[in-house]
Amino acid sequence: MIWDNLNYVEARINAACKRAGRLREEVTLIAVSKTKPIEMIEEAMKAGIREFGENKVQELIRKYESLPTDIHWHLIGHLQTNKVKYIVDKAAFIHSVDSYRLAEQINKEAEKKNIVSNILIEVNIAEEESKFGVAKEEVLPLIIEVAKFKNIRVRGLMTVAPYTEDAENNRIHFRNLRQLYVDIKSKNIDNVSMDVLSMGMTGDYEVAIEEGATMIRVGTGIFGERNYNILDRR
Ligand SMILES: *Cc1c(COP(=O)(O)O)cnc(C)c1O
Repeated sequence: MIWDNLNYVEARINAACKRAGRLREEVTLIAVSKTKPIEMIEEAMKAGIREFGENKVQELIRKYESLPTDIHWHLIGHLQTNKVKYIVDKAAFIHSVDSYRLAEQINKEAEKKNIVSNILIEVNIAEEESKFGVAKEEVLPLIIEVAKFKNIRVRGLMTVAPYTEDAENNRIHFRNLRQLYVDIKSKNIDNVSMDVLSMGMTGDYEVAIEEGATMIRVGTGIFGERNYNILDRR
């Protein structure tokens, strides 16, 4: 099942790249394995996947410890400052940085471990009340502040677009995030790369690719629907 799903997703990524005049290599597929067992991750690995996304610190650590070290783990969920120390040397990218305080903590823990942590700033691009992420206007000021930290590197922006039945509804949000990304990139801020634009999920990754995504985060489309039980909800 995972093999077939991956073939299907891969075909659609290719088609979206073609439509947008982009190369397939410009887009990294992150397989979002949250709530899914190790065996399913191993199956995706057999199909060549090495980028996996998790939204909970504990779950990421558990999987990190049970699986080969050539996996790149992406933390895509909200991160509390008190959990940074457990994750900073395990996540290849932290997609969900949305405050100065969190960036400061990541820098501190990365410094202790003598590494440079790749981070993305999470943007609430559609200004949804219930969402994590920084408001559009606050992104540049935050990045300027955070750029001074030597043990983190701002690599780009991330967003979780609104839930919608019609992916076309999110095109404007992806376009707006891309514009913000290009604007910030053009300022050539020291210690800020702006080479990653993480946007698009199962329902809208093709539109996101057309609008410039360099990382897409696909869960359901690869692993099937998630079952949340009471323990997962904490
Ligand atoms: C769960 C999750 C995804 C994947 O969602 P699907 O709709 O299953 O593809 C992507 N990004 C984030 C931040 C998530 O929490």
